[in-house]
Amino acid sequence: MIRLATISPCYNEEEVLVSSISRLTELFEQMIAQKLISADSLMVFVNDGSCDRTWDIICQHHVQNPRVCGINLTRNCGHQNAIMAGMMTARHWVDAVVTIDADLQDDLQAIPQMITSLEKGYEVVYGVKVSRTADPLLKRYSAEAFYKLQYAMGVESVFNHADFRLLSRRALDLLAEYGESNIYLRGLIPLIGLPSTTVDDVISERVSGHSKYNLNRMAGLALDGITSFSVKPLYLVTYTGVLFLIISLFIGIYVIHALIAGTAVPGWASLILSIWLVGGFVLLGVGVTGIYIGKIYQEVKHRPLYHIKEVLSHEPAL
Ligand code: UDP
Ligand code: MG
Repeated sequence: MIRLATISPCYNEEEVLVSSISRLTELFEQMIAQKLISADSLMVFVNDGSCDRTWDIICQHHVQNPRVCGINLTRNCGHQNAIMAGMMTARHWVDAVVTIDADLQDDLQAIPQMITSLEKGYEVVYGVKVSRTADPLLKRYSAEAFYKLQYAMGVESVFNHADFRLLSRRALDLLAEYGESNIYLRGLIPLIGLPSTTVDDVISERVSGHSKYNLNRMAGLALDGITSFSVKPLYLVTYTGVLFLIISLFIGIYVIHALIAGTAVPGWASLILSIWLVGGFVLLGVGVTGIYIGKIYQEVKHRPLYHIKEVLSHEPAL
């Protein structure tokens, strides 16, 4: 039977945490009764530098409930890093983890389905939001626009999937090989390449407390999502430079025509041509430099070049 850990990042969640722990406990009882997970499965709460009673609540429940584990970060490191801290610690304890926000807005009944998918051989199971009606209007539209922009910029990620997902121990071990520090899990996990599937996730409203993701933080995550995975914006600058040079060719022809016809005002021809030519060369220069910086950026990430799924050989194991 699978030993599972749920990983929940918590930042100032004192208002919702007690109810979340009891809802998760209920779910665990249900899954243990159904023999989906082992009785020693865990709930891991990562306190991401909260300034309220979040850590005290985790400590209290840890004493009363052997299933509750806590990880206390020294300061607020952000949602993605908090999840990563939880996963990298818990991967040594369990067979699989499910990451779920502490407010439990995601569909708890999707978790047993994730376990069933794991049993079928899927090592990554994404919760995909099928209905966002519980999300505020601004959040819904900005999130969907963000997924589309990401796709246009060439970032491979699962549409309408946030950070509600199951990862097998093997997937976690492979994720640990990624050496980068700008972590955007929704982009990283598809790179692992293990068999994956999705389950439906019906979002509900926050029971209490408030969202920690204001517009500023959402924009930051969106920017990270694109700049950590795509150098397409740099290529777009280069292409614009080339386009400007082509336009300056046509302007050159127009200028010569105006000079011959005598309709040009003195000084205009040299001015207009140099604006387009110099503009084009500057953009091209910036773009080409950008492409080299993009290559350096990809090099310094030290991402693994490949992950081996299996090896067939008569050689002794390494
Ligand atoms: N969170 C975190 N660190 C932060 C901000 C948020 O660990 O700096 C946690 C938060 O406690 C919650 C999850 O990330 O468990 C998602 O945050 P929230 O529910 O506020 O975002 P929303 O659901 O509104 O997008
Ligand atoms: Mg939330």
